[in-house]
Amino acid sequence: MSNALLTLTFDNGPDPAATPRVLDVLAARGVLSTFFVVGSALREHRALAERAHAEGHWIGNHTLTHPRPLGESGAEVREIEAAQAELGALAHPDRLFRPSGAGGDLSPGLLSTAAVESLIAGRFTCVLWNAVPGDWRDPSGWVDTALAQIASQDWTLLVLHDVADACADRLDEFLSRVDAEIVQAFPPACVPIKRGAVRRSLDGLL
Ligand SMILES: [Zn+2]
Repeated sequence: MSNALLTLTFDNGPDPAATPRVLDVLAARGVLSTFFVVGSALREHRALAERAHAEGHWIGNHTLTHPRPLGESGAEVREIEAAQAELGALAHPDRLFRPSGAGGDLSPGLLSTAAVESLIAGRFTCVLWNAVPGDWRDPSGWVDTALAQIASQDWTLLVLHDVADACADRLDEFLSRVDAEIVQAFPPACVPIKRGAVRRSLDGLL
């Protein structure tokens, strides 16, 4: 095996069709991950996030309504705080938060001054990413894209989606082929704010 590390994250759920399938695959392979849930979806399908939490996965905040992108929504504080209230006891103690983007780009508008101030005041941990293989637009080809991304860097923080027509069909195949140690922690380079403290430059994101 290579020395590469891999952190798995699943965004935009919970979803009644996709989330149970993803959880089944992860459980069968003994892999732990983080689910960044959308507050409005959580309201409808809370039992799925409760199952993920009970099985050892971390649960993070991925906004209330998933504006694309968060920083241009004009409602950043509500998107962050209302979703966190929805998470309640499911929330990770580090108050994990991932902004909703626009197609996976780490680009201006992902965050905003208002969003950053809210994350600092609320002592959130902002978790970004360094690999987006595009499972939602390429539910078959994302596997090869992801394997190439993982092979190209020491520690990959991979974004997949537990929604319909995304990663679920090929997740088990992906896990059978990946050559990396899967860990639940996040690479520090992808965490610009930790428990309300700014650790990395936010240049290019506001
Ligand atoms: Zn998302």
